[in-house]
Amino acid sequence: MSYRFLEHSLLDSPEGACAVVYGRGCPLSCKYCYNTSLRDFCFVPGDLIVPEVNEKITALKRWNEATRQYIKTVDYVIFSGGEILCKHENELYSMMHHAQRSGFLTGIFTTGMFPEKIKFLLDNKLINFYHFDYKYYDVMIKQNLEIDNLTMESLKLVWKELLHMTKKSDCIKYFHINTTVMKSVHDEDVLKYMHSRVKNIFPELMKLDISINKFPSSKWGWKLTTLMDQNTLGNLNLNLETYSEKELNQIIENL
Ligand code: SF4
Repeated sequence: MSYRFLEHSLLDSPEGACAVVYGRGCPLSCKYCYNTSLRDFCFVPGDLIVPEVNEKITALKRWNEATRQYIKTVDYVIFSGGEILCKHENELYSMMHHAQRSGFLTGIFTTGMFPEKIKFLLDNKLINFYHFDYKYYDVMIKQNLEIDNLTMESLKLVWKELLHMTKKSDCIKYFHINTTVMKSVHDEDVLKYMHSRVKNIFPELMKLDISINKFPSSKWGWKLTTLMDQNTLGNLNLNLETYSEKELNQIIENL
């Protein structure tokens, strides 16, 4: 199965720098998709297979002759897509385990649409930073009514793991939920509904950390992302009117 690799990014991890592994292929069709070139399940010249991804991960550690030590060029290796959970467990294990064994923290960007794969990641302690895209089904051109429930199921699994974590198995450093918001889909009522579902995941928390266009500073929280550059969204001719941060802040105050 095919992957792309980005050696350095400052935008995709909650702290420090990261490399990003993009798994090609996604069965969904989000109206705002920034990764349309990665949605097809195919092999494109220049794509990598798993052993080549692992070589790239190994190369993120460079030998420094002066200090006679290996230096890490990034803190995290992030697994993204497409929908990375479409990949086989064996492939996920190989790359994620290799990244951790090489001394990197790992992260995943996913819709959580395969809770059984989330369980696999949790059981094997393969991920340190979970970042779930919670969409609201109407975001998709071909609406997938089940997607929100699947995401919720996955969120609950991670939360349950967090609650039961002991110091010895303190694997999860961050657990963030992201929603890319569009006025035409996420009106105030929809955001209120989504907020109540997210709050239900974290019943022990008095206050949910909600941030706009940046990762929450807390270990867990909900990030609302406004559409940044609609020119990158392809020629879909959709009404994707975005919120300003001021408008979103007003809605958050009323949640
Ligand atoms: S889940 Fe991600 S890759 Fe798939 S269509 Fe939506 S935005 Fe694009």
